Amino acid sequence: MFGSISSLHRLSRGLRLRLTITYVVFFTVLLTFLGIFFRQYLSSLYDSQLQAILDEEWGAVRGYVRIENKGTKVNWYYDREEPEEALIVDRLRQTFLLTDQNGSVLYFSPKYEELGIESPKEIRDFLKRKDPVWITKKGADGQTYLVRQQMFIAEDDRPYFVAIGRSFQERQRIIEQFTRSYSIMLPLMIVTASLLGWFMAGRALSPINDVARTAHRITGSNLRIQIPPRGAHDELDKLIDAFNRMIERLDASFQQTKQFSTDVSHELRTPLTAIRGQLEVALLAAKTPEQYQDAILNALEDVERLSQTIRALLQLSLAESGQLALQKQPLDLTALIHNLMEQFYIPAESGRVELITELAPGVVVEADKVQIERLVSNLVSNAIKYTPEGGRVTVALEDHGRDAVLIVRDTGVGIPPDHLPHIFDRFYRVPTPGREKSPERGLGLGLSFVAWIVKEHRGHIDVQSKSGEGTTFLVRLPHGDLSDYERQANASYVTPSS
Ligand code: ADP
Repeated sequence: MFGSISSLHRLSRGLRLRLTITYVVFFTVLLTFLGIFFRQYLSSLYDSQLQAILDEEWGAVRGYVRIENKGTKVNWYYDREEPEEALIVDRLRQTFLLTDQNGSVLYFSPKYEELGIESPKEIRDFLKRKDPVWITKKGADGQTYLVRQQMFIAEDDRPYFVAIGRSFQERQRIIEQFTRSYSIMLPLMIVTASLLGWFMAGRALSPINDVARTAHRITGSNLRIQIPPRGAHDELDKLIDAFNRMIERLDASFQQTKQFSTDVSHELRTPLTAIRGQLEVALLAAKTPEQYQDAILNALEDVERLSQTIRALLQLSLAESGQLALQKQPLDLTALIHNLMEQFYIPAESGRVELITELAPGVVVEADKVQIERLVSNLVSNAIKYTPEGGRVTVALEDHGRDAVLIVRDTGVGIPPDHLPHIFDRFYRVPTPGREKSPERGLGLGLSFVAWIVKEHRGHIDVQSKSGEGTTFLVRLPHGDLSDYERQANASYVTPSS
């Protein structure tokens, strides 16, 4: 018991761990991708910003650069008193190259020289097109520069080559900072997510553990335990509800089994006590052979009743445990009932009960002949048995499309409403004062059999009764998978209503 509880804990912990790991792996992958995406986004954002700055500076070139001396001298034309202008020109001149159309350098900044000045041929080739070209160059300090190169038409209407550049240093710094901060944050976030995941998985699984613990507490003697639902109406509440219902069903079946054992012992003990009494009296008091014979005959009657009970019980338990296989075949119900009725006319007559049959012709069902005979016999013999002199028993068979309907109606003693729900229980007999010891008293097993037979044929049984007025049993039996042709071919007997 303890072993299984601890293995249960291990199992739930395993599940909790698996859920947490799945969650953390998913979370980590998601965060890593998000980090890479933002890093990329940041860098492309910075690139376009750098391009915009260089575009702006290109505009400034037009404003501040003058080429004089027939295209041989570069002059920076701006107000030196104006700090803002001085700053712009300073910035511009930091990474700057200007050549004439033959590639002869007119102006260069030391920084641009460090990045490498293009050869005159390259410049001549380049000047064949007008659009700006963006390239990256690496400086001696290892820094990368974005360079904008474009043809520049000066005031003398001659083309020149201008290149301006800006370092990526800032971008690099920002991205490195982002990467650093993110790599510190990531493990922290993963640890927090793991703890949160572990906690949430524990919370989600705790009702399952409750169910498991309760299941372990359940034994045959405390089947009244119920797990309180949490009121969330979710899957777990459904599980708890299903579990509670299962316990209820188990409880009902346990109670039934207990009741059944009590009933069986009682049923077997009563005739045994009677036999013993009769034999003891005979042994002590009988004097003549006739008295002995009487005692033995009485004892034999009880023995017969005892073996009847045991036989019926055995059959019923075989039936209910599924060991009594049904032999279903197309069966002419009209003919079967008509023939069966023969054996009831004499008992009906001797009880002064009128027996009437109203059978629809050619009603065929797919059913087990022996069991259907047993069903009809049980209902009809009960009806005759519980109908006093002058009464009437009607056996009717009707065809209701998909079902055949058997109705056994009597004008007998009826069944009181509080006993009605139990008449299909094993050994249940409606107590009738004065008849407890009567030899006609049944075993209380007949209707249990009837109920089983109806269920096995996927049918339905209904009973209506009024004390002192009579009882009606209505049995619906589906025709089964029979085709119209099979039904007609098997309807061997057509009765006139009698
Ligand atoms: P039994 O062998 O006692 O007839 P059944 O299982 O056939 O057992 O029936 C159970 C009880 O139902 C009977 O004891 C009887 O009290 C009641 N019962 C069955 N059929 C009728 C009926 N047609 N009219 C009145 N009571 C009936």
